[in-house]
Amino acid sequence: MAIKLQQAGITDITIYEKADDVGGTWRDNTYPGLSCDIPSRFYQYTFAMKPDWSRFFSPGGEIHEYFSGVADTHGLRERIRFGTEVLGAEFVDDRWRVRTSDGRTSEVDFLISATGILHHPRYPDIEGLDSFGGAVFHSARWDHDVELAGKRVAVIGTGSTGVQIVCGLADTAGRVDMFQRSAQWIMPFPNQRYSRAAKAAHRRFPRLDELTYRTYMKTFEFFARALVKPGWRRRLIGAICRANLRTVRDPELRRALTPDYQPMCKRLVISSRFFRAIQQDNVELVTEGIDHVEPRGIVTADGVLHELDVIALATGFDAHAFMRPMNLTGRDGVTLEDAWQDGPRAHLTVALPGFPNFFMLMGPHSPVGNYSLTTIAENQAEHILGWIRRWQSDQFDSVAPTQQATDTFNAEMRAAMPDTVWATGCTSWYLGKDGNPELWPWTPDKHRHALAEPNLAEYDLRVGNRVATEPAVR
Ligand code: NAP
Repeated sequence: MAIKLQQAGITDITIYEKADDVGGTWRDNTYPGLSCDIPSRFYQYTFAMKPDWSRFFSPGGEIHEYFSGVADTHGLRERIRFGTEVLGAEFVDDRWRVRTSDGRTSEVDFLISATGILHHPRYPDIEGLDSFGGAVFHSARWDHDVELAGKRVAVIGTGSTGVQIVCGLADTAGRVDMFQRSAQWIMPFPNQRYSRAAKAAHRRFPRLDELTYRTYMKTFEFFARALVKPGWRRRLIGAICRANLRTVRDPELRRALTPDYQPMCKRLVISSRFFRAIQQDNVELVTEGIDHVEPRGIVTADGVLHELDVIALATGFDAHAFMRPMNLTGRDGVTLEDAWQDGPRAHLTVALPGFPNFFMLMGPHSPVGNYSLTTIAENQAEHILGWIRRWQSDQFDSVAPTQQATDTFNAEMRAAMPDTVWATGCTSWYLGKDGNPELWPWTPDKHRHALAEPNLAEYDLRVGNRVATEPAVR
């Protein structure tokens, strides 16, 4: 967002960051085995293509380095107030008054939230967890001071994170016990290393990067139909996952690893390594429920004590917080808590009625299921920049979507949800508290098009306290 603003000549930008470094998820997650299961040549900014990614799915450290490098190249660090948390903001006299943890208040014309989705670790409520004698940490708070070589490690959780950690530890830890509450469908995908020649070719011909990016974008958009509509694509991906499961030799283990819901209902896990890892002699799948934790380890419902040195919690995140606990107060004193009492709702994933000149990146219902978040962020940033440009040309003082347009959009999404694979009967972080998926129920290209051409009739545009008149809106 900041780079797009800079490129448009807007330089009066402040970025608030409560941590002391850039990188978001790639700063917070450093667990063994971490990589991104979206191809690196697609998981990057179109304005900062990296020709020499090491692998098809590059490791987390390399991705963090990439984002840090982009921040440096574009001179963003000097605009960032590190160690500064935004506590709240109020919309007063067409400006946002932003309160920060350093006790300061700043006034801004536009407020944009880019706080991520998978940000607040979710800790499991397991009796006795505090009494454990060894180390316990969440996957997003990995304690690298804890030596793991030769140790007995528990991994609780079988999502993308748990699977990557088990793969990352299988060859170093003495033993790994993976505690599974629900089995996961696993889609195999080889993670090849890029040859020196491939990197040189991409360096020499930047058009190749663009071409590869576009090819992935089209491919992902094509297969996204499997997520949002029943049909042959969904059946094909399901068949690949089932065939992959058949590579597990031991029938009992295979049964234990067989999910009782449709492939892709939970976020699809991509790994060519997991089934090999779980079949290693030093790796065990524990399917018995966790009863409690005691100082020596985890006791399962069958009374067995699994003695351990380390417990890694790959138990996911609170994906519904968005920018909260930040307190936002929009026009006429409406608060975010009020606006979202039935769950996070936005217009076109980026804006909220009653909260003028406020926008979100990765807001509610963004198309985040197995897609590149950099691509979504770029589309949303372009859209937000469009509004700021209209504001710069004096078309209005404040803009917010109308309640009616937001309600209609949310009703359309709700009507489309039953066709999606996420609504076929499983639990996942995709579901809101009403049990409905909080994802984009159409293909990502529809999201791109909707943002590219906003319908001005769906917005409350005001000049001072007056509705902007027709000629002011072009
Ligand atoms: P997650 O998908 O929410 O999985 C959490 C796991 O913890 C689930 O297996 C859940 O079981 C289990 N769990 C939670 N509480 C538990 C409890 N009290 N006892 C036992 N098990 C418990 O979290 P995640 O694996 O961290 O992944 C979150 C998302 O991050 C992914 O879906 C993906 O979008 C993203 N991610 C992406 C990548 C990538 O490579 N791009 C890598 C990692 C993560 P149930 O299924 O039974 O609830």
